[in-house]
Amino acid sequence: MVIDAHCDVLLKLWQDHADFESSEQLQVDLKKWRKSPVKVQCFAIFVPEEVPKEEQFDVALEMARLFHEKIVEPYPDVQFISNQQDLHRLGDDQLGAVLTLEGCHVIGNDIDKLKQLISLGVRAVGLTWNQANAVCDGIGEKRGAGLTRFGEEVIDLLNKESIWTDLSHISYQGFFDAIERARYIMASHGNAMEVYPHRRNLSDEQIQALVNRDAWFGITFVPYFTSGKKIVEINDLLKHIQYFIDKGGENCLGFGSDFDGISDTIDRLEDIADYPNLIEEVNRYFTNEQIEKISYRNFIEKFPRLEN
Ligand SMILES: [Zn+2]
Repeated sequence: MVIDAHCDVLLKLWQDHADFESSEQLQVDLKKWRKSPVKVQCFAIFVPEEVPKEEQFDVALEMARLFHEKIVEPYPDVQFISNQQDLHRLGDDQLGAVLTLEGCHVIGNDIDKLKQLISLGVRAVGLTWNQANAVCDGIGEKRGAGLTRFGEEVIDLLNKESIWTDLSHISYQGFFDAIERARYIMASHGNAMEVYPHRRNLSDEQIQALVNRDAWFGITFVPYFTSGKKIVEINDLLKHIQYFIDKGGENCLGFGSDFDGISDTIDRLEDIADYPNLIEEVNRYFTNEQIEKISYRNFIEKFPRLEN
C-alpha cells in the first residue's frame, strides 16, 4: 500500500477535458489507479500562471468541482479524505482521494478565498509555485523574498484549521520563515540537493529543519530533479531515498510522484501503474519497517486534521 502526495491530474481534467476513468493521456486515471498499489492519491489544484489573474480563483473552484464530480462522486470505491480517521477507515477495496492546493496565487490577497477552498476540501496548501505571490516568493524568483504579513495570516489560518502548509516550490528564505510559523509542515514533492543539485530540491539545512519539526516530505519522480543522466533510472531515485534516511528522515519520508505534472519520466516509472517497479527495487535495499513508513505510515500518522 502506497500514499502519493502529489499529482496534477486536475490540471489535465480542466485543460484537456481528459477522461479520468480511463485515458491514455493521463499518468493517473482510475483504471491505472485501481491496478496500482496506491491506496490514497492527493490531487492538486494547480492553476497555471498564464491564466489571467482575475480568473485564477474561478479556475481553482472549477478544479475543486472536477475533483468531486469526476474523481470522487461517480465511484463508490473512491472516498473523499477529510481527516486522519478517514484514512484509517478505508476498507480493503477502497481508495482515498485528498484535495490539495499548489500555489496561493489563486487567492490573491483574500483570506476568504482560502477559507472557501478549505471548505471545499483542500487539506494541504502549497504557499507558492515558482513565482512570487502575495504570500511569499517562489524558488524561481531572483529576489528570493520571504513570507509577507499576509503569508503569516495564511499560515495562521492553516494552523487553526489543522491543514498542512506545503513548502515545495517556496523560496529559500520563505522556507525558513514558514517552517517557524507553521504547525503542520510538509514538502510534498522534491528530492535531495546534495544528491542532485536542482533548485527545487532540499538542501541539508532544509532537510534538517524538516526532520526537527517532524514534518512530512515526499520523494518525487521528476527525472530532472533526480539525476542529470539522459535516461534516469529507479536506482537514481533510490539514492535520494537513502540520503534522506541517512539524514534522519525515516519517520518523515513518503512519495509525491508529480504524475501528470511531468512529461519526461523515470525509466520504468512512467505512470501510477508502474509503482510496483519502484516497490520491487525499494524492497531490495530497505527494511520492511522503513518501507511501510515511507509508503504510507508517515503520511497517515502526520495527517493533521482529525475528526471533530
Ligand atoms: Zn510542483
